[in-house]
Amino acid sequence: MTDAATAVLIVGAGPAGLTAALELTRRGVPCRVVDRTPRPAAATGCYMLWPRTLGVLHRAGAPVGELARSAVTLRRKVFHLGGESFAHSMADEDGRWPLPLTLPQPVTEDVLTRALAARGVPVERPVLAASVRQDADGADVELRRPGGVERVRVRWVVLAQGAADDGLRTALGFGWSGEAVPGVRMFHLDVDLGGVLPLPPEEEHIFLADHRNIGFVPLPDGRHRLFTMEPDPDPADWSAPDWSALAGTVRAVTGMTGDPRYTGPVWRSRPARGLAGRFRSGRCFVVGETAKTVPMPVHGFNGGVQDAHDLAWKLADVERGVTGEAVLDSYDHERRAVARATIEHASRILAYGTHPDAEALHGPRVRTATHDVRTQPPVRYPAGELCRDAADLPGPAAGERLPDPPVRGPDGAGAPLSETLGADWALVALTGLAGLDGPGTDTVRVRALADAYPELRTWLLTPGEPRPGETADPDGALHRAVDADGPRLYVVRPDGHIGFRGPLHDLTALRGYLGRVFA
Ligand SMILES: Cc1cc2nc3c(=O)[nH]c(=O)nc-3n(C[C@H](O)[C@H](O)[C@H](O)COP(=O)(O)OP(=O)(O)OC[C@H]3O[C@@H](n4cnc5c(N)ncnc54)[C@H](O)[C@@H]3O)c2cc1C
Repeated sequence: MTDAATAVLIVGAGPAGLTAALELTRRGVPCRVVDRTPRPAAATGCYMLWPRTLGVLHRAGAPVGELARSAVTLRRKVFHLGGESFAHSMADEDGRWPLPLTLPQPVTEDVLTRALAARGVPVERPVLAASVRQDADGADVELRRPGGVERVRVRWVVLAQGAADDGLRTALGFGWSGEAVPGVRMFHLDVDLGGVLPLPPEEEHIFLADHRNIGFVPLPDGRHRLFTMEPDPDPADWSAPDWSALAGTVRAVTGMTGDPRYTGPVWRSRPARGLAGRFRSGRCFVVGETAKTVPMPVHGFNGGVQDAHDLAWKLADVERGVTGEAVLDSYDHERRAVARATIEHASRILAYGTHPDAEALHGPRVRTATHDVRTQPPVRYPAGELCRDAADLPGPAAGERLPDPPVRGPDGAGAPLSETLGADWALVALTGLAGLDGPGTDTVRVRALADAYPELRTWLLTPGEPRPGETADPDGALHRAVDADGPRLYVVRPDGHIGFRGPLHDLTALRGYLGRVFA
């Protein structure tokens, strides 16, 4: 049977699959989501959502406010080293969600699943995607459910199957290379501190000791997620953890006099890293843990949501005829680069966590007020078809995010730039701190060029009060944030990253960029 109504089939209803579906449906692209399990997993899994992930979910139209109401807002990260404590702000990116949230993964997935169902896309369970055969125009997928077998024809398939490869990824030619990261083991478990370690609310506490780190993250139900990172004495030993040894280590490192109540289950991991050989194979894509394994679990959910959003807005643009199919290759180019950087970053953190001399390694950093405590390194996409710098200019380059200060619209109302631009393509012209005289010949030419691209909304941002019908950068904050004294031009992608950057007076490079992207 050909399912002409389904453009995209998403295999897997974890965070990556749900995010892809939310973004596609928000942009009006029909999709289905199938999951082989009869019900969502109940294990807590991911407990921390980073600001960037919240921003991405907000763009996909997920009810982030509802998530926030069920969560703990994490304001500070406090390091303990050699009897001293060092507190650092957790505020990350600017914009609407600058602080991380902690909440159990099943709660987050439930909120996303309900938001998707409200858009008319219920997750179909238990439905196994058993095989995928693709050709130049689409893919034939065999779906197995308790009642029988269904064959669907779709234009695109997104594999969001998590870490366990059941053969689809291999059969579709994505390739995979991976390896264990020896010498380290980690435990995660939820504990009731019950007064043995009085920790203020809304703070993550990390105890840095020689050879090991022990951390506590507050959970919405009053418990804490306890995580440890330590040398692995015997990689072959998968027997049940020795509770008294674990509790003894926690007491010794934290200085607790008693034991917290261990509420189990305990999750033990030996880190591994891996990466698919490519993220696109014809009409099929891999996202989330099907695309890569990061050797620290705190990246799995967050990275998967970000992959899925990146792919889904591009797929939606292609489906709606906004951009050509070539844009889809940028998903592999951009997100594989981020995956590689994240794997390297996490591998470094693992080595830090088990370093033999905590004071020598961590001391200089935690004592610095400006110490960067972000778990995720900033995302900057590499130069490519979707990220072009036309000139060597100061400030954020193509591939980075445009800063997000408040701007003022023609009606006088102020809002963060990202909210003003929305989640579509935007052409942002900064007139320079001195402003342009009269009607501004350059801006007239910019508008004339942009008129040829109806999917591109043009924003002319002048310092000071808004001119009639225009938007203002009231005190020049945006100009200063991008280091632009003079006129400047940006194409901002639907994900808020700069696609093109150049001077305002020369539109040749811009014309070339728009011609390629919107072909
Ligand atoms: C203890 C612990 C703590 C963690 N903490 C964090 C954290 O703080 N931050 C963070 O970012 N991450 C964290 N993670 C990782 C996070 O839980 C995972 O990375 C995340 O769930 C992966 O999302 P995904 O969508 O890629 O895959 P999954 O969540 O694994 O979803 C894949 C889905 O695909 C379905 N599926 C597979 N094959 C098929 C098929 N053929 N047909 C139909 N359905 C199929 C599966 O049933 C599954 O439901 C933690 C994990 C653990 C265990």
